Amino acid sequence: MNVRGTILGIRLIDDKAYFLYIITMQIITMGSEILRQKAEKIEKIDSETVEIAGKMLEIIKRDKGVGLAGPQIGVMKRIFVVHVQNDEERIFINPSIIETSHDTAKIEEGCLSIPGIYAPVIRSEAIKIQAWNEKGRPFTLETSGILARVILHEYDHLEGVLFLDHLPEKKREQLLAKYAKKERRK
Ligand SMILES: [Zn+2]
Repeated sequence: MNVRGTILGIRLIDDKAYFLYIITMQIITMGSEILRQKAEKIEKIDSETVEIAGKMLEIIKRDKGVGLAGPQIGVMKRIFVVHVQNDEERIFINPSIIETSHDTAKIEEGCLSIPGIYAPVIRSEAIKIQAWNEKGRPFTLETSGILARVILHEYDHLEGVLFLDHLPEKKREQLLAKYAKKERRK
C-alpha cells in the first residue's frame, strides 16, 4: 500500500517511538481483505480520534461522497462520518443501531470503495442509533430517509459488509463481473 499521508500522533512505548496511524487519504477498494474485517471499538476518544474524523470528512468532501467508514481508509476502528445534502457533518464513534423500522425503502446506493457501481438496495426506512461524538459525548439519533440510509451503509463497513452483499445473488454477480471488467481495463 502507498504510505504517503499524514502521520497522526506518535506514542512512546519503552522509550521508542511508534507511529500510531498513517492516514493515506487513499480509499481502499473492493478486493482488499481490509474491507471484510470487523473494526474494533475505540477505547479512548482523544485528539487522535478527532484527527481521524477530520481527515475522513476532508476525504468525503474531496471525493464527493456522503459517508466514509474507518476501514475504507485502513483505520480498523469503529468510526464513520456522514455528510448528506442539507445536513450537518456528523461523526459516529462506537455506534450501535438500536432500532430499525419494519417499513423498508429501496434506494440506489454507491460506495467510494466500489467506484462506478450503483444499485438499489432494500433497507429499513427509519432507524435509531446510539453513538459518541468526537468530544466523547454520547448521543441518540432517530432518523429516516437518506440520512438513515447512509448511516446503515456506513455501519455495515464496520462489520465488514458491503452494499452489494444485500442484493439478490444474480444481480450481485452481474455487478461483480462489471466491476472486475472495469478493474482489468485500468
Ligand atoms: Zn461504502
